[in-house]
This record gives sequence, structure tokens and C-alpha cells, in this order.
Amino acid sequence: MLQATCFVLDLDDTLYPERDYVRSGFAIVDSLAAERIGLQSFGDACWERFLNGERGRIFDTVLQSRCGRVDTELVGDMVRAYRLHRPVIDLHPDARRLLDRARNLKLPLALVTDGPRESQRAKIDALALEHRFASIVVTAELGVGKSKPHPAAFELVQTVFGSDQRFVYIADNPHKDFLAPNQLGWTSISIQRTSGIYSQATAPTPAHAPQHTVTSLDDVWATAK
Ligand SMILES: [Mg+2]
Repeated sequence: MLQATCFVLDLDDTLYPERDYVRSGFAIVDSLAAERIGLQSFGDACWERFLNGERGRIFDTVLQSRCGRVDTELVGDMVRAYRLHRPVIDLHPDARRLLDRARNLKLPLALVTDGPRESQRAKIDALALEHRFASIVVTAELGVGKSKPHPAAFELVQTVFGSDQRFVYIADNPHKDFLAPNQLGWTSISIQRTSGIYSQATAPTPAHAPQHTVTSLDDVWATAK
């Protein structure tokens, strides 16, 4: 049975803690703020806002509150530094076990991930995932408007592996991760981690909902059967 099942995995908060990536990026931007304008503790201020649920324009809001103005050129450089930096991140232990088991079983895996191309590639590189996956789809590389829940990435995986396979998508964000796999007849599994950024998120419609939920990737083998 396992040979006929293709596991397709999400990256952020499925294989590693996304918060660690954010923290790692803020540390890089902290150095930039100190170098360029002598501002101290910029990264800590960003982190505090992030922990309070703020998303989006954190660099602007911290600069505004600390300096009384926003230097858009500096913000652009900060965003670039954040996206290009080599992150200090590591696989969740259960993710490492899943990848190791798949390798031992010679089970080919696919990765489907959203996010800025350069950031996602830096994460893939830092986690040494390139050799672990038979197919890696960074949706930003497919063109504008192809991020999840657009089905393009999933259809591409089906083309690579052959549609006679049984596909299982394992991810964490019900707003965008499970709609396309559900519509394509895949099995969808949500990994719910208490630390996950989307751990409190709920599916906006029944079509967006995962078919199964696990709290550890160790449980996907039995769930996918
Ligand atoms: Mg995710």
C-alpha cells in the first residue's frame, strides 16, 4: 500500500517551526538597524509585536514608533535582508522521523510551499531538504496567482508522479492548504501543533477543511492508510 501512496508535504509549520524563521529573520534585521541608524533592540521590538499577533508591516510600525518616521528605502533593505538571510532553523523531530522513514522505504516525497521564492529556497537549503524530495514546488516559481489554494502546484505534482498514485497532502493552514487537494480527490491531513502560527485557525468553508487531523507526524502513516 505504501508504495502506491505519495506523501506531499507543506514546509512552514509542518516540517519546522515557522516562529523560529521569523525570529531568525528579525535578528538579521536587528543588525541592519543598528548598523544603518544606530537603533538598538529593533529585532526584539519586532518580535514583541509578532507575539502580539501583528503581521504585515512590522518594520514600518516599529520604525514609526521608535524613530517617529519611516525610511522606505531602509524598510526595503530590511525586507530584502529578511528574505535573503540563511535562517537558523531545524526540522521538528517528528518531521525528521517522517523523512527518514520515507527514505528507508524508498518512498518518493513532494513538497508544496507558498511564500517568497528566495525565502522558501533559503529555508529548503538551511534544512537540507533538496535531496530528501523527488519534487519541490515553490508556488511563487509557477507565476503570479499560483499560490495555494490555486490547484496548479498540486496538479504539477500529479503530473510528475502520475495520477494513478494516491496522494496525501499534509499541512497546517486550513485557510489555503486543503481546498485544492480535497477538490483533486487527495487525502488531506492537518498537523496541529500548539506552537504553530495557524494552530487556532479554522476552515472558512467545509470544502477547506482537512479530512484528518493529527498532532504528530508520527501518526500520518496510520491515518493515511
Ligand atoms: Mg504551513
